[in-house]
Amino acid sequence: MSDRKYIFVTGGVVSSIGKGIATAGIGRLLRNRGFTVAPVKLDPYINVDAGTMNPYQHGEVFVTEDGAETDLDLGHYERFIDVYCSAASSVTTGSVYRTVIDKERRGDYLGATVQVIPHITNEIKDRIKRAGEIDGADIVIGEIGGTVGDIEGLPFLEAIRQMKKDVGAENVMYVHVTFVPAVGPWGEIKTKPTQHSVIKLREIGIAPDLLICRTEHPMSEDIKEKISLFCDVDKSAVIESMNAETIYEIPLIYERAGVGDTVTKRLRLPENEPDLREWTEIVGRVKSPRSEVRIGIVGKYTHNGDAYKSIDEALHHGGISNHTKVNIAWIESSDLEAMDVAKALSGLDAMVVAPGFGSRGIEGKIAAIRYARENDIPFLGICLGMQLAVVEFARNVCGLENATSEEFDPTSEHCVIHLLPDQHGVTTKGGTMRLGSYPCTIEDGTLAARLFGQKKTHDRHRHRFEVNNDYRETLKSNGMTCCGVSPDYRLVEMVEIASHSFFIGTQAHPEFKSRPNRPHPLFAGLVEAAVAHRAKRTGSAAIAVGE
Ligand code: GLN
Repeated sequence: MSDRKYIFVTGGVVSSIGKGIATAGIGRLLRNRGFTVAPVKLDPYINVDAGTMNPYQHGEVFVTEDGAETDLDLGHYERFIDVYCSAASSVTTGSVYRTVIDKERRGDYLGATVQVIPHITNEIKDRIKRAGEIDGADIVIGEIGGTVGDIEGLPFLEAIRQMKKDVGAENVMYVHVTFVPAVGPWGEIKTKPTQHSVIKLREIGIAPDLLICRTEHPMSEDIKEKISLFCDVDKSAVIESMNAETIYEIPLIYERAGVGDTVTKRLRLPENEPDLREWTEIVGRVKSPRSEVRIGIVGKYTHNGDAYKSIDEALHHGGISNHTKVNIAWIESSDLEAMDVAKALSGLDAMVVAPGFGSRGIEGKIAAIRYARENDIPFLGICLGMQLAVVEFARNVCGLENATSEEFDPTSEHCVIHLLPDQHGVTTKGGTMRLGSYPCTIEDGTLAARLFGQKKTHDRHRHRFEVNNDYRETLKSNGMTCCGVSPDYRLVEMVEIASHSFFIGTQAHPEFKSRPNRPHPLFAGLVEAAVAHRAKRTGSAAIAVGE
């Protein structure tokens, strides 16, 4: 395909209506039709990247292979479209201004007055185009963060408006994700908010080609007609989008609703037959599981599930490969500190101890790990979760009293976790951790070797601390093996306890690479172990769903 196509997704009426999943869903639908897709998120906030943002406010920080700290929507894109995003897939106001100001300081603008239009908008357009060039994608799909009408989003909307002029009207399409509420005692469906948000878009010069209407109630033909008339969008391009039983059904729902046909017609793409087999199989497995387990996520941001979005999804991927429904129990680690841990954690078939920073809740996490270790509950520790598994083992098995991480008490006699050598002297926060994909060599005959089925693996990282090598021997002689190390043997990547049925910790973030069609081995393994644990616990080999 010679002319690259561009699809831009905006959101209207309210935030959090699932614009990221809609974007990812359209991306998947296009892949099902044989096109290559490069997603890009355009975020109007002034942070240079999401790395410095509080997960409570903004959800998890998603890390790409090349170590960019990005918005969690990139996780949706990777999981749905099955691509690898990169730093080029994430554009923020902060990063755009930073580039423009650097250029201005270098004198690149040759005395010009540097302005939002054209300098900022040109930089935004360059970034959008670059995202498509990297892998030579057929289609770039760009999601604009925030809601139409936000002041800070205006330069991005202006840039995507100009794109039509730059690359030709037949190569650009606008999708607006809007909310259609039902109000009053009779649950009357109201189209006015959608009309207004489309008016706002049109004021800027963008006429949407497709409307994805998020709604809790089915929309009648009359309602679609009305939206079509008032918003000047073909009725066939007014798409009803209700909550699906599983988000992975969305590409199939969109395909059935005609989104694929509308997009291919509008962009003059070849009308390839969609291949829906893989995704139909995934959805079928989610909807008809053969067993069911309860897995706890012990973390410190559990009141906002988005803070652990990729872990949540990866557990469900493990469920898909095991034909098992995974019910998540959110466990706030700081609450555990004042609770009877055995009572609070009873009924779990497996446990994940989540990544994190700072001391809040760490003793709760350590108590949970001890409970999993002593009661043979399948356990996966991720990053901080792995570091605390080492701390717990050092304290309660190796007898190293007060063992801890240097992150929490640099004066401790036994810092079994300490600062990575190249982190000494690092004082700034943004983008300064050990970030991105690194290799890991796996020891033969270990649980890790069985799960990965290969000697070498790569996973993404985001940390400043590591296992202190001075303690490797002590850990080993007491039963905790460093089953994964960096190829130069200097850095511990994974630990496990051989005497336990499933106890493994990783310094990496395996959740970022997991996909519904390709679950990460650690999550597939954990769910498999959870199924076995439940069978043991309940004394039956097969567990009926709904038990
Ligand atoms: N705070 C720990 C570190 O920086 C763990 C980081 C994490 O869990 N991502 O090493």
